[in-house]
Amino acid sequence: MALQAPGEPLRAVEMMDPLPGPGELLLRVRTCGICRTDLHLRDGELEPGHLPLVLGHQIVGEVLVPDEAGTHAVGTRVGVPWLGWTCGECRYCRSGRENLCERARFTGKDVDGGYAELAVADARFCFPLPPESDYPDLQVAPLLCGGLIGYRALRMAGDAERIGLYGFGAAAHIVCQVAIHQGCKVYAFTRPGDTAGQAFARELGAVWAGASGDPPPEPLDAAVIFAPAGPLVPAALKVLAPGGTVVCAGIHMSDIPSFPYEDLWHERSIRSVANLTRADGTSFLKLAPRIPVRTRVTAYPLAQAERALADLRDGAFEGAAVLTP
Ligand SMILES: [Zn+2]
Ligand SMILES: [Zn+2]
Repeated sequence: MALQAPGEPLRAVEMMDPLPGPGELLLRVRTCGICRTDLHLRDGELEPGHLPLVLGHQIVGEVLVPDEAGTHAVGTRVGVPWLGWTCGECRYCRSGRENLCERARFTGKDVDGGYAELAVADARFCFPLPPESDYPDLQVAPLLCGGLIGYRALRMAGDAERIGLYGFGAAAHIVCQVAIHQGCKVYAFTRPGDTAGQAFARELGAVWAGASGDPPPEPLDAAVIFAPAGPLVPAALKVLAPGGTVVCAGIHMSDIPSFPYEDLWHERSIRSVANLTRADGTSFLKLAPRIPVRTRVTAYPLAQAERALADLRDGAFEGAAVLTP
């Protein structure tokens, strides 16, 4: 299912089978999770690396052709995340910040992704996955971006005791479980009127759930914003206790309106989180089965990728959507 031009629906196309280059794996795609970033690329809010482009950066793949170093054996199940390649040489790569690599290439943006039957990926950036008995192909897919990048965003929130999650979708429903496991209290903010989303958050252990404009019962130590709406930034800042942090976890957001300095005063801060490092992935995939994180998944056949993206835009399902070729 390829993106021919931003703003146009994805279309089924026949492409040549991808050929693995040096250090790459050829994978049979078993499932591929859908992420809001895919929707931003589809809608023209982010620029695709090339066209036509195969979206999808939460690939659960089975190795058909291994890399020559044998990093992952034939038949093993691996996960392919957003970070597809880094240079290893720039000042970010050399200081443990490969998520900021100046020449990074991203899966489903610069490299064709997993909305397909076959994919190619750099073996060094693929993760071994927890056992299939714990995480079947559908359930494991959302861990690969919503989980990984959500986990990084949660770490950037610092030692928060009370944490707000704005936009209770694929990432938040995973982060909620991790935060509670770490002893935090979770406050979930949804679109106004989304009572189903609020009920889902309470079911997962949130102590409070309400609309994004509602005041929580107590000031928060951190807020993580997953929704792409800039006005949520000053709204979240307003409900923070002194010293609190607003973490913007998405790759794209509408403009942030101005706000009085008083709302930032008392050592409150605003920051973004970009991409992931392989270390984030390894530690999160080790942690997830220990909690254990459970994912709520709606499955769509590959041919219905466009419909799945429309449902994501409309907030039509709880949790995450996953494609099955
Ligand atoms: Zn993503
Ligand atoms: Zn680099």
